[in-house]
Amino acid sequence: MHTCEKTGYISEIKLKTGVNVNRCYQCGKCTAGCAVAEEMDYPPSKMMRMLQTRDDNNYNKILASETIWLCVSCQNCLTRCPMEIDIPQLMDYLREKAIRKKKMNKKAKHVLAFHRAFLDSVKYTGRLYEIGLIADYKVRTLHIFQDMDVAPKMFVKGKLPVLPEIVEDKKQIKTIFSKVQE
Ligand code: SF4
Ligand code: SF4
Repeated sequence: MHTCEKTGYISEIKLKTGVNVNRCYQCGKCTAGCAVAEEMDYPPSKMMRMLQTRDDNNYNKILASETIWLCVSCQNCLTRCPMEIDIPQLMDYLREKAIRKKKMNKKAKHVLAFHRAFLDSVKYTGRLYEIGLIADYKVRTLHIFQDMDVAPKMFVKGKLPVLPEIVEDKKQIKTIFSKVQE
């Protein structure tokens, strides 16, 4: 086993998220309650066990996993955990870490593209502008012509507004984004 003494990821996780991975006693309730566990390469309880090993290889496997990108932060695992381990918070931290260390799973780029398109829409209009979001997402993922037959039907039904609604106080939106970036 390759021990991670230099990086001390267990201590860093505790410091940044408040999660003590050693408190997990592998009851499996998080995995049983997770709607996407079956799709994950490492379901939540297995991920906790891998973190407990203090093995760099296991940590890197988690950072490169699909698991952290499939988690939808529904909080089911946290609600069920007898030790109140905040797995959603941990997943957030691991996603950020994977990006910083450039270890992201290749499937994550679609999730990230959606997040970025969503945030840009809110940043520039103060609201969610659906057409802008879809166009931005498709350009980022190169899925330009996918679902082309769906959009006209949605226009007809009035589900897609052509022009964005823009909030009047854009300064406030700018302040929120600057504070988050800090
Ligand atoms: S927060 Fe994530 S890991 Fe926890 S139950 Fe929901 S999807 Fe699963
Ligand atoms: S529910 Fe909590 S204690 Fe049980 S396996 Fe999951 S994280 Fe560990």
